Amino acid sequence: MTAPETTGIATRGFATHGPDARFGPFDFNRREVGPTDVLIDILYCGICHSDIHQARAEWEPLIPSIYPMVPGHEIVGRIARVGAEVSKFREGDFAGIGCFVDSCGECVGCNNGLEQYCLKGSAMTYNGTEMDRTTPTYGGYSKHYVIDEDYALKVNAPESDLAGVAPLLCAGITTYSPLKRWGVGPGKKVAVAGLGGLGHMGVKIAAAMGAEVTVLSTSPAKEADARRLGAHNFLNTKDAEAITAAAGSFDFLLDTISAQHDYNAYLSLLGLNGVMVVVGVPTEPIPLNAFSLIGGNKVLAGSLIGGIPETQEMLDFCARHNITADVEVIRPDRIEEAYDRTVKSDVRYRFVIDMQNA
Ligand code: NAP
Ligand code: ZN
Repeated sequence: MTAPETTGIATRGFATHGPDARFGPFDFNRREVGPTDVLIDILYCGICHSDIHQARAEWEPLIPSIYPMVPGHEIVGRIARVGAEVSKFREGDFAGIGCFVDSCGECVGCNNGLEQYCLKGSAMTYNGTEMDRTTPTYGGYSKHYVIDEDYALKVNAPESDLAGVAPLLCAGITTYSPLKRWGVGPGKKVAVAGLGGLGHMGVKIAAAMGAEVTVLSTSPAKEADARRLGAHNFLNTKDAEAITAAAGSFDFLLDTISAQHDYNAYLSLLGLNGVMVVVGVPTEPIPLNAFSLIGGNKVLAGSLIGGIPETQEMLDFCARHNITADVEVIRPDRIEEAYDRTVKSDVRYRFVIDMQNA
């Protein structure tokens, strides 16, 4: 099937046409390279659980799923062409694209480097539209992307690391931003709930920030990995006694869990003035007991990815600390298998699609 757009740069993506459909090749066109645009040859694209939620229409009606859908917002590639006014990139540079590709540029969010909170709504990398609100966006499970240089990130990493850098564009920034905002560092006891794509980045980054890190996991088999990734402790959340014994232990808890769970139980693990930040987005609302917050003066907060300046800061932080994601690289014909394994918590710890050989 071909998208309605017939002008521009021909490319190939991998699309799904409905919540139960299989992925298949999808030919469409990227826009022509404008004066401030860059054309990126995509090398790798990570598979985020948000791709699965949206491809399978799990977030409807709040976030409608638009088909055909080419997911993917953990993109790393090589600059193939630059517009006449581009100053940040040169042909041959490595570059990244995260969860959004444009925003209004004028509101309080955009003026403060928080384009993800654009009051007009940022243009999401896929399952959305450009700021004209009509042109559909297609994501990184594709060979090329055309993007304004202001929304692309500079990637300073050797080519051999790029598959592991791709997941930083969503999983990395989504964990870095709340860890930084809430002052995680030496002397802080930090819990990371869910050891998947986001969780394993949260562990690496919180440990690099100097915190004492505990993984809260439903998968006891992941304990050795958790410690290898930098965690100091591991708590099996299926062990009710261990949970009771750990009550009040943490200053900060980062909840990356993708499925239903009891927020009250996780809040009980926080000590006085403790903060729990929710980044995972289960499909159903979850009942919250007010007592879970008022006892202990606790804070329950949320966080959405990060803006362009902070995403660049995170990439530079990870480069300085030699942090990349642990990845399993696959071809596009294994997207369904990767989705199923991710949903079963059987991901070590991010699937990444090799787009250059697709
Ligand atoms: P993922 O790789 O699938 O990891 C999720 C982890 O949650 C699993 O590996 C598992 O870890 C744990 N888990 C799964 N089911 C559970 C259950 N029923 N009870 C307790 N724990 C469970 O997913 P991801 O890509 O890291 O994404 C995580 C969530 O964050 C998704 O909902 C995604 O949409 C969302 N997200 C939000 C943002 C944002 O900006 N806020 C950005 C990206 C993604 P264990 O095996 O260790 O238990
Ligand atoms: Zn994501």
